[in-house]
Amino acid sequence: SSDLSCHNMICNENVNAEYAVSITGDNFADMFANMDDDYMRARSADVKDISNRLVSNLSGEEQPDWENTEPSIIVADDLTPSETVQMDKNKILAFVLVHGSANSHTAILARMMNIPALIGVPIELESLHNGVNAIVDGQDGIFYLNPDENQIAQEQEQKKLLANYKGRESVTKSGRKINLYANIGNVSDVAYVLENDAEGIGLFRSEFLYLGRDELPDETEQFNAYRQVLQMMADKKVVIRTLDIGADKKADYLGLGKEDNPALGYRAIRICLEQPDIFKTQLRALLRAAKYGNLSIMYPMIISVEEVVSIKKIVAEVAEELENENIPYEIPEQGIMIETPAAVMLSEELAELVDFFSIGTNDLTQYTLAIDRQNNRLDRFYNPHHEAVLRMIEMTIQGAHKHGKWVGICGELGADTTLTERFIKMGIDELSVSPSMVLGVRSRICEME
Ligand code: PEP
Ligand code: MG
Repeated sequence: SSDLSCHNMICNENVNAEYAVSITGDNFADMFANMDDDYMRARSADVKDISNRLVSNLSGEEQPDWENTEPSIIVADDLTPSETVQMDKNKILAFVLVHGSANSHTAILARMMNIPALIGVPIELESLHNGVNAIVDGQDGIFYLNPDENQIAQEQEQKKLLANYKGRESVTKSGRKINLYANIGNVSDVAYVLENDAEGIGLFRSEFLYLGRDELPDETEQFNAYRQVLQMMADKKVVIRTLDIGADKKADYLGLGKEDNPALGYRAIRICLEQPDIFKTQLRALLRAAKYGNLSIMYPMIISVEEVVSIKKIVAEVAEELENENIPYEIPEQGIMIETPAAVMLSEELAELVDFFSIGTNDLTQYTLAIDRQNNRLDRFYNPHHEAVLRMIEMTIQGAHKHGKWVGICGELGADTTLTERFIKMGIDELSVSPSMVLGVRSRICEME
């Protein structure tokens, strides 16, 4: 219909296509902005995003020439997901955004791309031009524009200090050893894991193998990806999470449909238990890959003992099939993510059934505080330091330890060095953080009594 109204405007009002698209885009964006439903209202920005891109294509506006661009810091008012995914990630040193929300798709994409991002930085964009020097300190969230020699020296010193922690154990002065692992989204991220000397991979978000394509990845493709990661990590631990699709991560070919409350919807293990063919293909690939390294499998969004019992039954079926087909396999260590209040409350019972827990603080915060992590209007209420969240973490650790199981944190909060000491006092065994955060967290652990 937008096509029609543009067409009408061009014919009847004698305006050019750019103008017609722009006005039509504005009209649709306004229409969405005035809808009752929060989700639909937020789509107004997406409509604007598309119409801006159409106008820029129509007007032959210069597109960035990534080929000939030096690696740079991107400073912008805000970035849409479509702008972000189109960028060449090898050329981006950091993102600095004046607006935007820490839990927005763009921030999540930046994290997945392992690129430091500062959000909500009050800069006068007019005063900036291409080619000025700047430093982004992602660790402390500081942006230095035109840094003086002192600041550059300080940052380099800081980098050097952190580099000293490469090759060291993550152990407190009194000898408490923490397993410090890293999070990845695809095979190529392993390079960052090794570069930053993580001791293993605590979360491989396997759903990224399923996104941005037209059909499910088959068993062979998945087996190859998992085996590659395991082999690159040699005998170090690799925790691969089974498919956590749904909510904000959608793949059209799955035909999941629209939901009123996607965060509370058909997602992750719920899809796998309802569509066991998809789940079994992934499990076959995982059990086969287990022969090539130190694998653990982890299941997301668990809320009940029954789910774990069903999962184990399916794993046993898959193992039996592989056995009958004479295909080499191994049943690796199996754990669950603790990211719903239900799982926290049942942590003692669940710990009896599994080998380990990994606490997903991103979702645990969302579900404990009843705050949609995608809704940037709620950023100031999304508080992972909320005492309720911290007590949930403590309860989970106690539940796991009661049955002698290890427990880690793989949500963003695991990298928050203001809490490292508290987590260790609670008894946490493992922390899994973005590769770029590994050395900072290790230095914090090593400084601790
Ligand atoms: C989490 O919820 O904390 C987590 C690690 O998983 P994701 O961010 O992929 O939902
Ligand atoms: Mg999660």
